[in-house]
Amino acid sequence: MIQLYIPLNFLGVIYREIKQALTDLDKMFNLLEREREVADAPGAAELRVSDGAVRFESVDFAYDPARPILHGVSFEIPAGRTVAVVGASGAGKSTLARLLYRFYDVSGGRITIDGQDIRGVTQQSLRRAIGIVPQDTVLFNDSVEFNIAYGRPGASRAEVEAAARSAHIHDFIAATPQGYETVVGERGLKLSGGEKQRVAIARTLLKNPAILIFDEATSALDSANERAIQAELKSAAQGKTALVIAHRLSTVVDAHEIVVLDHGRVVERGAHAELLARDGRYAEMWRLQQAARDADEPADA
Ligand code: ATP
Repeated sequence: MIQLYIPLNFLGVIYREIKQALTDLDKMFNLLEREREVADAPGAAELRVSDGAVRFESVDFAYDPARPILHGVSFEIPAGRTVAVVGASGAGKSTLARLLYRFYDVSGGRITIDGQDIRGVTQQSLRRAIGIVPQDTVLFNDSVEFNIAYGRPGASRAEVEAAARSAHIHDFIAATPQGYETVVGERGLKLSGGEKQRVAIARTLLKNPAILIFDEATSALDSANERAIQAELKSAAQGKTALVIAHRLSTVVDAHEIVVLDHGRVVERGAHAELLARDGRYAEMWRLQQAARDADEPADA
């Protein structure tokens, strides 16, 4: 009897294990299903990047159909140029970045890269062509080296270091006791917002994409740090097509074009000097930020 009992009991254990595994699998697929806001179109082609020119053509978008967010947004980022988007909080700036990376699909109009509608290409090829420096970089609980090399798995230490130097984070890393082996993230060395953003810049430099999305951190920075981040952004955007989501107008002064967004609509477009001369919405935002800065400066100096 005991001879039969053991195998049967064992089968029971296996049965429970398999059932649990299937439940987990089911949960996982459900999750994946829900995460999949977008999917590759049947027969989707690989994105062919020749210059990396980006166009938003009459883009409409709503997260919830009852609440439209973007209304007929059109602008282009010529190859190798930087376009900055500014506007009040909630205007829809970050949504533009999410649509370009295709976290969501547009509800109307289209977004193209070198003439190809991004809905017609594979997500993998699209995301390979685009590097994102997000507002809040999430770091892995792993070494700084791993966190930077994630931009291009298999990169050598020398390549990681070169990217860190360009992002102005090398000296900081070198000064930690374990250097590039230092574990960062929630369970490791805590980095400031600016330091995390530099790690993200190094990661993106290593990935070397044709198109760069830079979502500027909203957190307050002192003038020195602000200038440093601007310099890093400039080096990261060198020769790339860049979409900069800006919260500080000082970041956008050098952009080839500034797009002013208001409640999901483009209300002004032009270079900094042109927009100041127009004395419209942008000029008003500029005056307000300058006044706030002047009020802060004495404490800063
Ligand atoms: P900020 O300067 O504060 O970052 P923003 O201009 O980047 O703002 P978005 O993040 O693009 O604004 O948000 C635009 C609008 O869309 C906001 O009203 C926001 O509440 C809404 N929104 C953003 N993300 C979602 C989401 N995942 N689901 C539903 N609504 C969202």
